[in-house]
Amino acid sequence: MAKIACYSVKAYSTTAPASALGATTIERRQPTPTDVQIQIQYCGVCHSDLHFARNEWGFTQYPAVPGHEIVGKVTAVGSGVKKFQVGDTVGVGCLVDSCRTCPSCRSGLEQFCDLGLAGGTYGGMEKHLGTPTLGGYSQSIVVTEDFVLRMPANLNLAAAAPLLCAGITTYSPLRHWKVGPGHKVGIVGLGGLGHMGVKFAKAFGAHVVLFTTSPSKVADARRVGADEVVVSTDAAQMAAQAGSFDFILDAVSAAHDINAYMNLLKRDGNLVLVGAPEKPLPVAAFPLLMRRRSLSGSLIGGLPETQEMLDFCGQHNITCDIEMIKMDEINGAYERMLKSDVKYRFVIDMASLK
Ligand code: NAP
Ligand code: ZN
Ligand code: ZN
Repeated sequence: MAKIACYSVKAYSTTAPASALGATTIERRQPTPTDVQIQIQYCGVCHSDLHFARNEWGFTQYPAVPGHEIVGKVTAVGSGVKKFQVGDTVGVGCLVDSCRTCPSCRSGLEQFCDLGLAGGTYGGMEKHLGTPTLGGYSQSIVVTEDFVLRMPANLNLAAAAPLLCAGITTYSPLRHWKVGPGHKVGIVGLGGLGHMGVKFAKAFGAHVVLFTTSPSKVADARRVGADEVVVSTDAAQMAAQAGSFDFILDAVSAAHDINAYMNLLKRDGNLVLVGAPEKPLPVAAFPLLMRRRSLSGSLIGGLPETQEMLDFCGQHNITCDIEMIKMDEINGAYERMLKSDVKYRFVIDMASLK
């Protein structure tokens, strides 16, 4: 492989599943003719960052730098870059590349590329350097222009950062399954994804019911747009919802009983899993067979739909509810995330990484 020039940037990485994240220095490639160099201003903290840092999915290579809700300013562009200029405010989500030729890539569904997650912002393959990709807990990143997104100018930039993963991951399945007026929609878990699922389902005109294990979140769930809130640990509240949903989006990060939610679907109703818990979720046959229900999955979204989602958020003034943290507060933030105690997304102020 031809040697490519690199530069050093400060970052936060982890070196083993049980290790804390700490300060380090990493190498980024100098921009090639089609690349955009971005100074990262804010990076959201996704529960996937935690699963990945701790190797809960089994494919982490160390040292690992998480972070895939990246926003910042363009500081340099390659000679062939057409869409971006120095000074533009841009975003990068979970993908920094894909094969560009498989049927999914040609359909703008790069998240389902035949190369799998090789184009991931972290845990993928940095094909210029032959090393694993390193994510957004860092001062700057270099990304091919096709995977760089334009941020709406009217949105608070820090509060828009989590749109790059939490936003598109909930927008995409709601759009794919055409959720809208007349639909009763459940969102399970009021976390980073869940609170955006509520906002989008409401914006698309559905009747939205939020399911939470945290009674303390009921008022917030209503504030972000839920028409009804069900405390899922209360059997009577769950029973009252039986057989009534067209669509349920499950955004829970840990083991839980999905059969309890299957039972809440109408005939031909669909439960879409976006949460990615460490361990398999047992599926009982009868809740699925009865009423011809479906169980589906969905993964982030492709580049065209991610730009569509950002533009939609700009038009409708939709952002995430965030708690800003400094880079050196990340380990405490992970502990709070594990306790379902995030209101409702941590965002790292990258100026704090000095
Ligand atoms: P998060 O902010 O930590 O929210 C997860 C929520 O799930 C919690 O706030 C909590 O909500 C609920 N929860 C947690 N533990 C639970 C348990 N044991 N039983 C029942 N409910 C529980 O996480 P996130 O960033 O939104 O991510 C959620 C999941 O989606 C993660 O597994 C993540 O890896 C995955 N993800 C998938 C995609 C994709 O493309 N499919 C993209 C991004 C993230 P309540 O307090 O309201 O109960
Ligand atoms: Zn994510
Ligand atoms: Zn592909």
